[in-house]
Amino acid sequence: MLNSQSTTLIACPTCQKKSPWSSENPDRPFCSHRCKLIDLGAWANETYAIPQQDSEEDEVFSEDLKIDPNKRFL
Ligand SMILES: [Zn+2]
Repeated sequence: MLNSQSTTLIACPTCQKKSPWSSENPDRPFCSHRCKLIDLGAWANETYAIPQQDSEEDEVFSEDLKIDPNKRFL
């Protein structure tokens, strides 16, 4: 820890961008005034929804029933 200045980074609720939590940012915890307005507007419209980030993709590998040509019923 060479730097004694520890800045607390917070994630913007709107865009998840990390921004320093400081008194110089009147829009905290948002990164910008724009994000603050977006969030407030979303709440007002009752359309606020936390985006669900599903990292797991449900890829169903359908196994094709391959018929072995060597196994023929003669
Ligand atoms: Zn933001």
